[in-house]
Amino acid sequence: MTHSAIADSSFVREANKALVRDLLRDVGLLARAEIARRTNLSRSTVSSIVSELIDSGFVREVGIGQSSGGRRPVLLEFNYNARYIVGCDIGNNHLLGVLANLEGRVLRREEQAIPLGLSWQQTVEKLGGLIEGLSRQSNVAVEQVLGIGVGIPAPLAYHDGRIANQAILARWQGVRIGEELSKRLGLPCLIDNDANLGALGEHAWGAGRGCANMAYIKLGTGVGGGLILNGALYRGHFGSAGEIGHITIDADGPYCRCGNRGCLEAMVSVQVLLAEAADALRAGRHSLLQPDKLSVEALVDAARAGDALAVEVLDRAGTAIGVAVAGLVNMLNLPLVVISGGLASAGELLLGPIRVAVRQRCLPMLAAGLSIVGAQLVQDAVGLGAVRLVLQEVFSKPELFPARERTLIT
Ligand SMILES: [Zn+2]
Repeated sequence: MTHSAIADSSFVREANKALVRDLLRDVGLLARAEIARRTNLSRSTVSSIVSELIDSGFVREVGIGQSSGGRRPVLLEFNYNARYIVGCDIGNNHLLGVLANLEGRVLRREEQAIPLGLSWQQTVEKLGGLIEGLSRQSNVAVEQVLGIGVGIPAPLAYHDGRIANQAILARWQGVRIGEELSKRLGLPCLIDNDANLGALGEHAWGAGRGCANMAYIKLGTGVGGGLILNGALYRGHFGSAGEIGHITIDADGPYCRCGNRGCLEAMVSVQVLLAEAADALRAGRHSLLQPDKLSVEALVDAARAGDALAVEVLDRAGTAIGVAVAGLVNMLNLPLVVISGGLASAGELLLGPIRVAVRQRCLPMLAAGLSIVGAQLVQDAVGLGAVRLVLQEVFSKPELFPARERTLIT
């Protein structure tokens, strides 16, 4: 055979293997003859592909099916526990890791507080330790981990994995955290912005399941967003789409850490809201809130108890968020906006004012078809989105993974 004929035949073989593997993953229990019927592959081709998939652990025989005349067939299924994926969320003051199987079922999660302002080297070291601990405690050998996904709280150039912003995580600018972590652990590591991964997670397994177009907004010490358009994460030109936190709400508003004025983040980040409450208390406002015990939890508890100051702070935040969401919905005709992050624990106390502001500013036909809801995966959304990212890439871009895995998954 010529080189190109060999390349062609191995390409066809890989494509057929992916076809059989994906069919078993998507449909569930099937016998070899049924796979041959559904894929139009010959029985002998299916047989040899199934043998390879069984050897690699991705497919297993699980019992005997009903006979349609001849011998009763052996049923096969995709083995979701053939490999595992670790999804991580690097926050400003915490690290979170989840170890999940190939259908995103979490076997173990681990959370660790970290001091503010760690260098990227210290963060990689701590995250490496957390991941090793997760696999040790789950009795999963490192060789069984297919890859690691990591969400970071900064804009990032997705094509080369570099942290892209001069103002946000400035000391990490230009660093390829994925590559560094990959070196540290000897495993493939994919990295993305945390809100992008939150959107992927909620879309796959949370509030956005089955919805092809949605926005995910994460409200915390920073304000981030991720967009799912036509069923896929929309990254934009180089990976930083969805930065809703830096949409201008008030051109003369307060300064933002990005260098501009009046950004949504500069008006509704957790620190800003708590500072607002502190100012009001200092000015003698009566409230259930105590100046030395201000936190998101305290703010939400007080608002739930009917405290006027706490309700006002959430109301103002909801209005500013609603203005940004209305712009997004007018532009993209989204049917779903998922609100996440610490502040989302306020539930209707925050969602209500967001909905009012959106209704006032959105074209009526767009507002009529829109749902604004709280997130379902809450703290695990970014970690699970990171798992989802690895799952998507491993089956669609196997070249990112080492030769050992490539032979198993293609
Ligand atoms: Zn900004």
